[in-house]
Amino acid sequence: MPDLAEAERILHARVGPAVRVGFPIAPLTTFRLGGPAALFVDAQGDEELAAVREAADATDIPVAVIGKGSNMLVSDDGFPGIVVRLGRGFRWAGRDGDRLSAGGAMPLPAMAGVAMRHRLSGLEFGVAIPASLGGAVKMNAGAHGRSMSDVVDRMEVFPLTGSGPRRSLASSEAGFAYRRSQLPDDSIVVGATVRLQPGTDDEIRAHMEEARRWRRRTQPLAEPNCGSVFKNPDGDHAARLIESAGAKGLRVGGARVSEKHANFIVAETGATASDVWELIQQVRARVEHHAGIRLETEVERMGAVGDADD
Ligand SMILES: Cc1cc2nc3c(=O)[nH]c(=O)nc-3n(C[C@H](O)[C@H](O)[C@H](O)COP(=O)(O)OP(=O)(O)OC[C@H]3O[C@@H](n4cnc5c(N)ncnc54)[C@H](O)[C@@H]3O)c2cc1C
Repeated sequence: MPDLAEAERILHARVGPAVRVGFPIAPLTTFRLGGPAALFVDAQGDEELAAVREAADATDIPVAVIGKGSNMLVSDDGFPGIVVRLGRGFRWAGRDGDRLSAGGAMPLPAMAGVAMRHRLSGLEFGVAIPASLGGAVKMNAGAHGRSMSDVVDRMEVFPLTGSGPRRSLASSEAGFAYRRSQLPDDSIVVGATVRLQPGTDDEIRAHMEEARRWRRRTQPLAEPNCGSVFKNPDGDHAARLIESAGAKGLRVGGARVSEKHANFIVAETGATASDVWELIQQVRARVEHHAGIRLETEVERMGAVGDADD
């Protein structure tokens, strides 16, 4: 049985105010749903990450990583272990020739902005993806036909269980595939380097403006959501399949399939994570019945939401 009190004691002894008990996670996500983390650590440096690792190893308490919470459905019951997030100490960026390095907490749009100021092209696709750099690397986030795997050169990873120091991995070691990587779940991406090309200010700015306009036109940005709920199956679009199956506008409790973009679920006031998960199941069943395709979720779950193998 994991010993929460012992984990709390170890964390307090090592990092004091960086640890919080019963900390609400919903405000850290774009869905704004879900219960608290039993323990929460806002890590400013490797010292806090090492403390999380010590507490996890000593007690077997589960550990989960959150970035900007833009692809996250947190259980209504919260998370019964330690949730760790990279704090301001991991929010930095620096240029070296055609490479741009940044900390894992750097928002991807901010990093795209730094690239633009240095007249480096290649990261424009990320200007309106509301991710942290660490979360974008882990999920291999992408848009407009490009993804992180096209630009990442190396990443720095800190293991949150076992032993061993930070490791620097080459892009080829990340196991990048469509909207996923094979970076271990019990590790945290604390920084990454992308390789870009020289570009002109006007061209970079124009691509970014077009990316922003496209989103305003196609996505329900005014309501809480988690971006695309399902991955696009090979050769098709989840949104098209959902619309064809007549699931646009479908609702469960306060969760609704967006009328603006069928692969988005929006959370109205009073919605719960259970509403969202039940709606995901209903949409999936309709598409399977209508098109014979079983959609795979893109949204990540934290805590007990549905069955683990759903
Ligand atoms: C309006 C909107 C539009 C979106 N558009 C796109 C889009 O165009 N393309 C796209 O790909 N995605 C899109 N998304 C989804 C989301 O932004 C991406 O999946 C993003 O990569 C998630 O990053 P995050 O920092 O928010 O991670 P989180 O949502 O916090 O976490 C997602 C996963 O990454 C892990 N993780 C987070 N940080 C780290 C880290 N530092 N180290 C290791 N693991 C970590 C978490 O444990 C979790 O498994 C959109 C979301 C929204 C709300």
